[in-house]
Amino acid sequence: MRHRRNGTLEQFDREFRIGVSRQVRRVDECACCGAEGPIHARGLISRCYHRHSLAGTLDRFPAVSEEERVQAATRAWQRRRDDRLEDYAEMRSWGETREQAAARLGVTEQTAQQYERMLREQVSA
Ligand SMILES: [Zn+2]
Repeated sequence: MRHRRNGTLEQFDREFRIGVSRQVRRVDECACCGAEGPIHARGLISRCYHRHSLAGTLDRFPAVSEEERVQAATRAWQRRRDDRLEDYAEMRSWGETREQAAARLGVTEQTAQQYERMLREQVSA
């Protein structure tokens, strides 16, 4: 994340971790066995992907379309934004200033101002 502090785990999205292959992968439930792990392809973790590949049963798990990929990424982004907004609101309710809450979350002053607007809209809605 661009505005997370470098050198801390905060700079990584919760949904993305660096796996053994050093590639960035989405961590999710495997479409085959439900085990949580880095998704290799077709919604499968590496172990299941290779097992189905050897067994010739990969076609049971359709490849994800570009549109679905974009939708999933958008949902993940919205979830992270909502999480941060919730954390921000909580810190503000503890009496922290906008600057303190922004610094703790690792977001810019501009983002904090946007959060303030979103929270005001939530109250008036
Ligand atoms: Zn599996």
